[in-house]
Amino acid sequence: MAKNYRAEITGVFGDPVDGNPTGVMEEAAYEACGLNYRYLTLKVTREDFDDAMKSIRALHMKGMNLTMPHKINVLPYLDELSQAAEIIGAVNTIVVRDGKLFGENTDGKGFVQALKNKNISLPGKKIVILGAGGAAKAIAVECALAGASFVTIINRTAKRAEELALVLKRNTKADSTAMTWEPKQKIPAGTDILINATSIGLMPDADAKPDIDYDTISDHMTVCDVVFNPAETLFLKEAANRHARTVNGLGMLACQGALNFTLWTGVEAPLELMEETLRKEFEE
Ligand code: NDP
Repeated sequence: MAKNYRAEITGVFGDPVDGNPTGVMEEAAYEACGLNYRYLTLKVTREDFDDAMKSIRALHMKGMNLTMPHKINVLPYLDELSQAAEIIGAVNTIVVRDGKLFGENTDGKGFVQALKNKNISLPGKKIVILGAGGAAKAIAVECALAGASFVTIINRTAKRAEELALVLKRNTKADSTAMTWEPKQKIPAGTDILINATSIGLMPDADAKPDIDYDTISDHMTVCDVVFNPAETLFLKEAANRHARTVNGLGMLACQGALNFTLWTGVEAPLELMEETLRKEFEE
């Protein structure tokens, strides 16, 4: 049989993108599975985005991740969207299928998968999300599609919280309400899952934590953070001190990477290796 020396190309378009750690886990996974795939971390400005999108077909790429500022601008270029990507109105993963570009959003799917891996179910659950940005929206939509019954959005900017609650009410079976973030914000009693979907606590501000009344966290809650570096944020430490179950952002990021890996290769992802690779990367 003739040898095939051609590498399959995947990667990420973004600006700024230098600090994006995804390539480390994807390349480790490709190598572990013996796949001749590459993950390229590529700086693409808004001005050059059109050329970059053309390169996907010209270079016969398998797919791409998108990060700031391209997650919304990409929509007109896509042939098909997943249900979640359509509701969220943003795409972080392109998959090339038979020359067509399929848009998916794995931010929220990675979160739901990270919960599943810890046997935490969503049907009928009451969710509280701190934040109403891109990550919050993706998580809120996926939780609602996975059967959460009530989603409360708490955000500093009230309008964004209201808009997201409306998106959930219009497009999913979940009920939703918006709250403006007050100082020492109390977490509503009866909350099953509390999620920090802001960037508060992210390196280099690891000594920061969301301004909530931590004594309103109870031991029957699951408390999750989207911040992945450090993996154990102050927010999660405070929750663990109240005997809540905790789920960190590192697991979510690894699950998201694993979903992308499978979408591009059709091969089951080595999730543990991917999570461990990220953990080591952040320890350095
Ligand atoms: P956005 O900029 O879209 O949204 C940020 C949100 O955080 C907004 O709701 C903003 O409120 C709120 N916020 C920021 N600072 C403060 C503050 N000091 N006090 C109160 N609220 C604040 O960012 P993203 O949603 O894209 O990303 C958020 C975080 O999620 C990042 O740290 C990112 O790295 C992480 N992330 C993690 C993933 C994972 O797999 N683990 C995947 C995707 C993202 P306002 O609307 O008032 O400005």
